[in-house]
Amino acid sequence: MIRAKKFLGQHFLKDKNIAKKIVDSLDAETKNILEIGPGTGVLTQFLLQRPENLKLVEIDRESIAFLRETYPELRETAIVENRTTILYQNDFLEMELNNLFDGDSFSVTGNFPYNISSQIFFKVIKYKEIIPEVVGMVQKEVAERMVASPGKKTYGILSVLLQRWYNVEYMFTVDENVFVPPPKVKSAVVKMTRNDRQDMQCDEELFIRLVKTTFNQRRKTIRNSIKPLLGDKTYECGFMNLRPEQLTISQFIDFTNELEKIL
Ligand code: SAH
Repeated sequence: MIRAKKFLGQHFLKDKNIAKKIVDSLDAETKNILEIGPGTGVLTQFLLQRPENLKLVEIDRESIAFLRETYPELRETAIVENRTTILYQNDFLEMELNNLFDGDSFSVTGNFPYNISSQIFFKVIKYKEIIPEVVGMVQKEVAERMVASPGKKTYGILSVLLQRWYNVEYMFTVDENVFVPPPKVKSAVVKMTRNDRQDMQCDEELFIRLVKTTFNQRRKTIRNSIKPLLGDKTYECGFMNLRPEQLTISQFIDFTNELEKIL
C-alpha cells in the first residue's frame, strides 16, 4: 500500500460502493472520460469496466507504479476494440486539454485532491466547451459553496463562476471514515452539467474582476466595494446599496455590461 502524501492531498477512498456510485453517475452517453488523481485506483477499477476511452492523470510516481502493477490495462497505451486507455504521469493543472481526446469533448471525474479543487474547477471553466460534465468528490464545505444560491452565506465567487456555465448538483455527503487517512472534514460528491448559456454576454475579464472585487469585501455594499474599480468615475444603479451575495448571475452580467460602458 502507498503511504499517503499530505502535500498531494492524498486521501484514499476505501468504500467501493461510493466509488461505484460516483462512476455510475457519469453520463451513459459520454464517449471519453478523464480521471484526475486515480491514486490507488478505487474509481479506476469501475471506470475500466465502462466502454469509453479513458485517460488518467496522476502526479504521484508511487501511485503510477502501483496502478501499472495492479491494472495490466494501464501498463502501456492500450487500444482494445477501438477503446483507448492511457495513464499519464503529469500535473493536471499544467495539462493542455484541447487535444486530449483529439478535440472531442469528455467527462471529468475523480476524488479530487482537496488542496487544488478550486483550481481544478477554474480550469474546467476554461475548457467548458469540451467538458460537458464533471462528477467528483470535494470537501463538503466546497460543495456547499459550489451549489449555493443568492442570499446564502456560502454564495460567493465559486458559486457564481461555476453556475454561470454549469448546473451544479449536490449528490451526497461522505463521511471522513471511508478514507485512509481520514481527512479532517466531511466530503461530498457533486455533479456539474453544462447549462445552456452559450455566449459570454459580457466582457469575461471584467465580469470576473467584478465578482472577485465585490465578494472579496462581501460585507460591504456594492457601492463601497467597487470604488477601486471605478477610479475617478461615478456610477449609479439599482443595486448599489446591496451586497454581492444578493445578486444573481444575470444581474452580475448586466452590471458588467453597464460598467463596461463607463470604464
Ligand atoms: N482517486 C483516489 C485518490 C484520491 S486522493 C481515491 O479515491 O482513493 C487525490 C489524488 O490526486 C492523489 O492520488 C494525488 O496523488 C493526486 N494528485 C494530487 N495533485 C495532483 C495534480 N496536480 N495532478 C494530478 N493528480 C494529482
